[in-house]
Amino acid sequence: MSADPAAPLLSVRGLSRRYGDRVALDGLSFDLAAGELLAFLGPNGAGKTTAFEILTGLRRADAGEVRLSGQLMAPGAAELRARIGVVFQRPAIDEKLTARENLLLGAALMGVSRAAARPRIEAALLRAELSARGDEQVAKFSGGLRRRLELERALLGEPDLLILDEPTQGLDPGFRRTFWRGIREACARRGLAVLLTTHDPHEAAECDRVAVLDAGRIVAEGTPRALCDRLGGDVLVVEAERPDELAPVIRERFGVEPHIEGDTLRFTLPRAHEAIPRLVEALPPGRLTSVGLHLPTLADVFVHLTGRALGAEDAPAP
Ligand code: ATP
Repeated sequence: MSADPAAPLLSVRGLSRRYGDRVALDGLSFDLAAGELLAFLGPNGAGKTTAFEILTGLRRADAGEVRLSGQLMAPGAAELRARIGVVFQRPAIDEKLTARENLLLGAALMGVSRAAARPRIEAALLRAELSARGDEQVAKFSGGLRRRLELERALLGEPDLLILDEPTQGLDPGFRRTFWRGIREACARRGLAVLLTTHDPHEAAECDRVAVLDAGRIVAEGTPRALCDRLGGDVLVVEAERPDELAPVIRERFGVEPHIEGDTLRFTLPRAHEAIPRLVEALPPGRLTSVGLHLPTLADVFVHLTGRALGAEDAPAP
């Protein structure tokens, strides 16, 4: 079957996978258009790695199908797989080789001829601001520069789809920004579609669309802004010595169920700033350590949807 120009770039239907009795993916279905950035956001165990492995051809699904431009990705569909670039969570770059050698090796592994690879490699080094350091051993590069190089290596095969697993974990904010700039440039330049799996709301907030994954299912999907707007207000964060004693007061006074984590209670209220004085009055004196307010983040969205925390720091509001 040939490519269907009307089909979404990536179309996934009913993807399921079990490990013994444990359901890792439970009928995952979604579409991804050319040029679009989609994040799968979920905590450890949500099924992200399983989805990543199936989509990159490292693991088989028990059921469901994956199509690229309408064409079924059957095992061994090498031509279709060549249209997908991958950046793994663990660094996969050879420290003993130079930046240029790593890119040459990557291009060769992707089946790009040496003649075609040369200009692509020089353009990649330029984009990564590594032109002057192309012949330096990668061992001398910072973690951020290595990551940037891995991104450029994945793009050498000129893929239509790039799949990344927690690509900016452990990078400082400056390198995160240049990494994301590199991705957005590739999306704008070539209509590259990007699928990212992450438990970090910061990474997810960089994408056009976020699918919240829990227990192998998509429980909500939308732009970061639309997902945050679902909370219908701002988030109040109350620190107290005995949060369990304050929870009934909040429930009764404001009609909301606070989420308790450690010594912190979180809940959402419309016009939350106006509620702060009422909150302080309502609670027994001396019980509050602090009261804070912030715009909803994707971490708050996850708590709202599942009643559990993502286990990562809050992201800034999109
Ligand atoms: P993490 O970030 O911790 O890897 P995840 O969201 O990527 O989490 P998966 O690794 O896909 O989630 O795991 C989904 C579920 O499947 C979990 O309950 C996990 O314990 C289970 N699981 C994953 N791999 C295996 C395996 N090889 N054998 C048995 N169970 C597994």
